[in-house]
Amino acid sequence: MAKRQSLLIAACIVLTALALAIPSFSVRLILAGVLLVVAVVWIVTARRPANAENSSPDRIDQTNAPENFEIRSLLDATMAGMREGLLVVNRDMRVVASNRAAHKLFSSSVRAIKSQRLTELTRNPAIYSAFLDGLKGIERSGVKVETHGPERQIFDLRVVPIGNVNGNGAEGALGVFFDITRTERLELVRQEFLSNVSHELRTPLTAIIAFVETLENGAMEDAESSQRFLSIIRKNASRMHGLIDDILELTAIEGGNVQLRAAPVELHHLVQEVCVSLAAKADAQKVTLRNDVASEVKVYADARRLEQMLTNLIDNGIKFSRERGTVAISYESGTRDKILVQDNGDGIPAQHLERLFERFYRVDRARSRDMGGTGLGLAIVKHLALLHGGEVTVTSELGKGSTFTIHLLKS
Ligand code: ADP
Repeated sequence: MAKRQSLLIAACIVLTALALAIPSFSVRLILAGVLLVVAVVWIVTARRPANAENSSPDRIDQTNAPENFEIRSLLDATMAGMREGLLVVNRDMRVVASNRAAHKLFSSSVRAIKSQRLTELTRNPAIYSAFLDGLKGIERSGVKVETHGPERQIFDLRVVPIGNVNGNGAEGALGVFFDITRTERLELVRQEFLSNVSHELRTPLTAIIAFVETLENGAMEDAESSQRFLSIIRKNASRMHGLIDDILELTAIEGGNVQLRAAPVELHHLVQEVCVSLAAKADAQKVTLRNDVASEVKVYADARRLEQMLTNLIDNGIKFSRERGTVAISYESGTRDKILVQDNGDGIPAQHLERLFERFYRVDRARSRDMGGTGLGLAIVKHLALLHGGEVTVTSELGKGSTFTIHLLKS
């Protein structure tokens, strides 16, 4: 009998470990929960005397000592290795079993957590009510629990009754705390992104509709006005086009769908190409572009992607420069290769620097839009730099200008 139980519990442990490795969160949750219940029910019943003759705990321990030890250590190892917090309470709402992840969750030591009442452990009403239902024989899942310590965490709690469930309820309740902090954070980022995108698209779209209506309502008769309105429509349509391009680009980079083809790149030549492509824009803003990179410099990068990063940074330099300003591109060698894009524009107030590379973050939203900006240029540069194993940094002084630096690994 003991052997059969040993096999059963060993199978439970192995299956629990396998269940925890399944990628689908909900399947993992259900399987892990069910298997753990079986395991814990076994421990509770194994500890209880089967009949009056062998009711002495000493006797049970002696008879099954070697096997029990093996099973206990296996179960201990499984519980300790679980990333999910596990808490078992008895009918008095006292903790009778818990694992390391649960201790971390309640920031308690093993000694402090054991045999404590649940109410002493936490004042969270959601946790208490879920365990209370468990003791009444009711299963609860999808209970959202938030901790408010220095590190805010969010858990999905599932509580199931354990032991015999009769008119008096269950003998105990088992709760599994699944950490969903990362999933929730990603969901928040996704929602914010969607709402930003909708907002960014709505503004030019509203302008396009308004000017089309104005034209339809008679403005078309006046050649000068219609020309002006058409150019506004074109400007807004281009903005939408640029925004969609940038969103697709950023999504591809973040989704890991951009493969780098890194090779030695002649930097002076590449910078020259970018300067030529932006020359008309620089002239229109009366800004001088200066390529200070020596002709022999080579960096190790994906040429097309480096060109894209430099285009975004130099384009910003032009946009945010003063009239008759200069945007200079230079190179510095160190433990990493550094490419500096320096302008002598208005500079960026210090409080904005930390968030500057976030998607849609702008110092002056209206000015950025007015210049056809999407608010995604720097986010793209950041992700491309990271993809190269490097980074992009910024220093800025109000009234003096800004320097954006791309740091690249040496070949
Ligand atoms: P945008 O399309 O608005 O240029 P970016 O992501 O490229 O979007 O830049 C985000 C914001 O960072 C800009 O709106 C601007 O406020 C600020 N910024 C970027 N480059 C510079 C610069 N060289 N000088 C001053 N401000 C800058």
